[in-house]
Amino acid sequence: MTPQHHEIVVIGAGISGAAIANELLSRSQPVCIVDAAPGPASACSSHSYAIAHPHIGRGSPRLLRLTRIAFLLAEARWGKQWNQHGIFQPTKKDKVFNRDELQEYLRSIDIDDKIAKPLDAREAQALLGIEQSGVWLPRGASLSLAEAANDLLQAHEKLTCLWKTRISRLEASDGKWLLFDDAGHQILTSDKVIVAAAMETKSLMASIDVHLPLKPVRGQLSIFSISKNDAWVPRLPKVALSGEGYCLPAEKLADGSYRWIVGSSFDEGEDDLQARNSSDEFNREQAQGLLNYAEGDVASLRANDSFIGVRCVSGDRLPIIGTLTQRPGIFLATALGSRGVLWSALAAKFIVAQVLEDDFALLARLGFTADLVAALAPARFFAGAFATPSALGALASNSKPILPSAPRAK
Ligand SMILES: Cc1cc2nc3c(=O)[nH]c(=O)nc-3n(C[C@H](O)[C@H](O)[C@H](O)COP(=O)(O)OP(=O)(O)OC[C@H]3O[C@@H](n4cnc5c(N)ncnc54)[C@H](O)[C@@H]3O)c2cc1C
Repeated sequence: MTPQHHEIVVIGAGISGAAIANELLSRSQPVCIVDAAPGPASACSSHSYAIAHPHIGRGSPRLLRLTRIAFLLAEARWGKQWNQHGIFQPTKKDKVFNRDELQEYLRSIDIDDKIAKPLDAREAQALLGIEQSGVWLPRGASLSLAEAANDLLQAHEKLTCLWKTRISRLEASDGKWLLFDDAGHQILTSDKVIVAAAMETKSLMASIDVHLPLKPVRGQLSIFSISKNDAWVPRLPKVALSGEGYCLPAEKLADGSYRWIVGSSFDEGEDDLQARNSSDEFNREQAQGLLNYAEGDVASLRANDSFIGVRCVSGDRLPIIGTLTQRPGIFLATALGSRGVLWSALAAKFIVAQVLEDDFALLARLGFTADLVAALAPARFFAGAFATPSALGALASNSKPILPSAPRAK
């Protein structure tokens, strides 16, 4: 049987691949998306409670600029599913709240109070019902990655979906890419392949002798149930909180009890999807910390359900988004870590601009400059990648990864 040929194939129909495929369709570009699962968002993007806000912390200027651009793109992309409830970041326990200093810092990084506003404990109590100082991010939101991915991949005349099709290796031949399944059958050929397969990007790239420093980080969110008269109830938040862990606004159910989502564990190097009591315990402690309620009885937080996923994280914790210069025709959008909402929105615009070789105008207007392109580029992990400007386009088979000794970004 002759394999199907598509000009552009996307491997992986999580939020990353779905956003990229949808962006291609919006540019009238036919695309084929292929996934091992029977439908979109089966893996980490089966997540229904992902929060999004720009990073405002100190010490990571590139992360700050990148998340701001990505946040603006995410807000614009997910209008319908975007659940804007605001996110409050309480002052860290070892820090003292100093409004003037904070205000000055936010001004210095060009963040106005429509994005981030310092609140002392009295103001936070009056505005949000939380008696802690911190920073209020009124545009912070949450998104169901599962709903968003399904929505992005609705039937379209220019969209071909191949489900239950696992790609196990790639091969270059006559200026095209050949895609093989587990049985060794060549099932697709393509001019351009966008790999958005999270952790499996590692083995797919190894099949073409490119070795990426990716690792799995398991995470469990707990869905707690709290009785209507419990001592926790008056403290449950009406907005999301983010700090050491995060939580969504608590939801009052018809019987007067509450449903409250709190997370999440961060189990480096692990990829096991079984629920763990120890992760629920950890999340109960995060709940106490987020609400500054050390005396709260954790036994009242009954774990009703959970979401467990495996994040894909790169050696320097930034996502890997961009063209793989040493293998022309291959593009990567992986290692979204704990910021799937933001990085997928950025990947959609940036990868499509690279694939179609045009339309960098929007990204440039948002401040997406060459140093940020380099910060995300796959080439950053390969020796000598940016030694000379010409090296950017002329990497041959140098695929030895450089593993930074310490994470540069969260
Ligand atoms: C506990 C937890 C909490 C999180 N909280 C947040 C949050 O608050 N905010 C946020 O923004 N993000 C959050 N994240 C991160 C977010 O869920 C991920 O970044 C995002 O889902 C990753 O999307 P993806 O498309 O890269 O990968 P995935 O969703 O894993 O998709 C990869 C797809 O590729 C397919 N695939 C893999 N290999 C192959 C192959 N060889 N052939 C064909 N198909 C293949 C898979 O079937 C899958 O569909 C959280 C993650 C966890 C685990």
